[in-house]
Amino acid sequence: EFTLERAHAAQGALNAFTVIDAGRAMAMAKASDERIAKGEARALEGVPVAMKDLFAVEGVETTASSNILKGFTPTYESTVSKNLWDAGAVFFAKTSMDEFAMGSSNETAASGPVVNPWRAKGSEEKLVPGGSSGGSAAALAAGISYGATGTDTGGSIRQPAAFAGLVGVKPTYGRCSRWGVVAFASSLDHPGPLAKTVRDAAILTREMAGPDPKDSTSYTGPVPDFEKAVGRSVKGLKIGIPAEYRVEGMPQEIETLWSQGRDWLKAAGAEIVDISLPMTKYALPAYYIIAPAEASSNLARYDGMRYGQRVEGEDLTDTYEKTRAAGFGTEVQRRVLIGTYVLSAGYYDAYYLKALKVRRRILEDFNAAFETVDAILTPTTPSAAFAIGSKAKASPIEMYLNDIFTVTANIAGIPAMSVPAGLDKNGLPLGLQVITRALDEETMFSVGAALE
Ligand code: GLN
Repeated sequence: EFTLERAHAAQGALNAFTVIDAGRAMAMAKASDERIAKGEARALEGVPVAMKDLFAVEGVETTASSNILKGFTPTYESTVSKNLWDAGAVFFAKTSMDEFAMGSSNETAASGPVVNPWRAKGSEEKLVPGGSSGGSAAALAAGISYGATGTDTGGSIRQPAAFAGLVGVKPTYGRCSRWGVVAFASSLDHPGPLAKTVRDAAILTREMAGPDPKDSTSYTGPVPDFEKAVGRSVKGLKIGIPAEYRVEGMPQEIETLWSQGRDWLKAAGAEIVDISLPMTKYALPAYYIIAPAEASSNLARYDGMRYGQRVEGEDLTDTYEKTRAAGFGTEVQRRVLIGTYVLSAGYYDAYYLKALKVRRRILEDFNAAFETVDAILTPTTPSAAFAIGSKAKASPIEMYLNDIFTVTANIAGIPAMSVPAGLDKNGLPLGLQVITRALDEETMFSVGAALE
């Protein structure tokens, strides 16, 4: 009741939710109360968890914050949400996001921008919550939800977590099933949690994860109890500091925060090692070829015939064109155009194949680094949260630069998390990122907790 009350009270100011479902929330909470009374509580019994609007929740409108999916109500449940309900979590709302998860500010949502509950000192200017999982970040930062889901294709869990003073986890590719999650770029899409503490994030990751026969890329091995890794000593761990993440124009405050992080880990007994990831500078261009290429293919299914909205045209082709022109926003259309271009005959080798080669080299960089270090520490973002409208109006490239530190871990499919690490001079939160070897989320959680 408290969660629903807060959600309704804050919606006008934050615009974080696409759906608030009081009926289902109260029914699930009641069932949880009964289990608790019987002494049968599960790991998340009775805990409200907000779902990014990319996850199919049976019988609840799921739109990926796009007009093209308006009215689409799935008859199935995503594996991740099912896992959460099976652990006792309570569904109460779907959260807003950038349309089809394309963006870094939650400004491309069909239902309009989401507002970050944080304000710079002495200012009333409204800031973005980051994106694309911006609604989830705002719901947590405002103290409405206790956990939330996100998806991270190039940073969409970690960047909003950093902008809203939260913990955001992108587990290893395949740890959390993509079944029932609206696809953006299938080889880069990672479901994961946003939470208030590293321990909460570890518990949520554990409950969301697991093998899934419905997702052929799901990892079939066991899920460790990530919660046990929280609080484990980092003594003797080797932490790599990659020189290439010191980018031109990065504010001094980010640099300072990064060196503070180094000092904290050193004080906790870790060894700090300078490393090099030479292919880093090619990660962003490679990402912005691979992700749109996959997106253009995944989004081909929205043709007005099978899902959501249709705009009738003169004939079939005209109907397709009118439907897609009306249903997709500008950023989504841009991605589809870039994607079809880089995949087209004559350009495929020059762009798409080249990007795949870069992808391979980035993975090799990480593999080489992990021969000498156990974890890598970097800033999560090159800036704190910015004002609504300030970057969207500049060039798309300006927005894409937000992802400069986060896309590499998606390209390599390895675990990465953002941990709140302090405030900038304006009192806005900044995050530090911990990256580890594939399937070694445990080390990531231990290092993350040491920074908390
Ligand atoms: N900002 C990136 C993009 O727009 C990443 C989004 C995401 O991780 N879903 O593609």
